[in-house]
Amino acid sequence: MKTLGFTFMPLKKIKAIRGMHDITPDKSGHWARLEKAVAAVFATYAYREIRMPIVENTGLFHRSIGEVTDIVEKEMYTFADRNGESIALRPEGTAGCVRACIEHSLLDTPQKLWYNGPMFRYERPQKGRQRQFHQIGAEAFGYTGAEVEAEILLLNAKLWRVLGLEKSISLQINNIGSSEARAAYRQALVDYLNQYRSDLDADSQRRLETNPLRILDSKDAATQQLLEGAPALSAFVSQESKEHFARLNELLAAGGVEALHNPRLVRGLDYYNDTVFEWVSDELGAQGTVCGGGRYDGLVEQLGGKPTPAVGFAMGIERLYLLLEAHDFAALPGSDAPGAYVIVADPAYQAFAFEVTESLRSALPEFAIMQHLAAGSIKSQFKKADKSGAKFALVIAENEVAEQTVTIKNLHTGEQSIVSVSKDTTELAAALK
Ligand code: ATP
Ligand code: MG
Repeated sequence: MKTLGFTFMPLKKIKAIRGMHDITPDKSGHWARLEKAVAAVFATYAYREIRMPIVENTGLFHRSIGEVTDIVEKEMYTFADRNGESIALRPEGTAGCVRACIEHSLLDTPQKLWYNGPMFRYERPQKGRQRQFHQIGAEAFGYTGAEVEAEILLLNAKLWRVLGLEKSISLQINNIGSSEARAAYRQALVDYLNQYRSDLDADSQRRLETNPLRILDSKDAATQQLLEGAPALSAFVSQESKEHFARLNELLAAGGVEALHNPRLVRGLDYYNDTVFEWVSDELGAQGTVCGGGRYDGLVEQLGGKPTPAVGFAMGIERLYLLLEAHDFAALPGSDAPGAYVIVADPAYQAFAFEVTESLRSALPEFAIMQHLAAGSIKSQFKKADKSGAKFALVIAENEVAEQTVTIKNLHTGEQSIVSVSKDTTELAAALK
């Protein structure tokens, strides 16, 4: 059959794009509660939300992330727009956030902002690594001191506590100095590694030409062995940077946040200076970094704004979700289950049931009510009520309608009572606490 130029083959199912996943209803409740918990923590630190477009000019990412980074070299989803302009699905949020702040002149005063949304990278899909994934991130503009970094790390630590993950995630920090310090170090590192070029893994050999600092990140054992004798980045970092790092460590210690100094931590993006950090978990296999960030004082100017100090981080929601799942979502605030399941013994009583449930929803705006909307015996409806996870079953049958009452059964304890709704649902609402 031919229509509109398409040939339909009715049996072939169309699937989602590789590495891009639906968030099905069994997951979306946990997902939404995770997002809500994060948003609440941001609010308590006076961060405000910003929402940016998902597509940007490709040039924005080349100029910010850097030409020789993994993202720009091989992971970007880039398309020609219908007018021939090159646009990209955003691989991360910082570049777009900085672009937006410059465009709307938000940087005349300090700003603390957060965002949440999908990001796109053409990577090999595996556990904790997708092509469409989600990040929640934050950026603070206008602060030069280590205080803002300390506050961000305290915020992160608070979030892990709220999610019950404080024992699963630990902090690594480093100071990578200024871009001048790194340029000097890059040369020293290349001079050293060039002597052992053929012993390096293939990726690191390539990076020796393009982005030698990323070699410090190599997972290859032989390369790591060679790095033992390499010059240390810390030897090239200025006194000022060292003092900044000491101050950060002091504030973290005072705030009760444990941080491991990892002198090899450099991060994959070009724009960082001084402080960089990662929150890592050993419960996630190879994809153990849940959250990463650092200071990027040069980026605003590089994208055409006034020089503005900045610090930010982004966390991978899929990886956080995997951690929460491994802990049965036990500490995740809130619940997916309805508060009450309304059992309606006969469709003839539905009009009365609606009166009760609508009134109850007004009285208890946060309370979820699942009303039985089909036929079915009381017994089968009780089974559905149990399965729904609701704490209460509200029974509406012949007697209840005649007497203008509702029978409440606490499904956890089996306790049962009858309350009047002849006047309003105040008494019923009070009984559902
Ligand atoms: P990795 O080393 O795992 O590739 P990255 O350095 O590329 O991470 P960032 O750009 O710092 O990651 O992004 C911050 C966080 O976003 C990561 O720590 C991770 O939790 C998450 N993340 C990054 N890429 C992906 C992806 N492809 N799929 C799922 N989560 C991701
Ligand atoms: Mg990556």
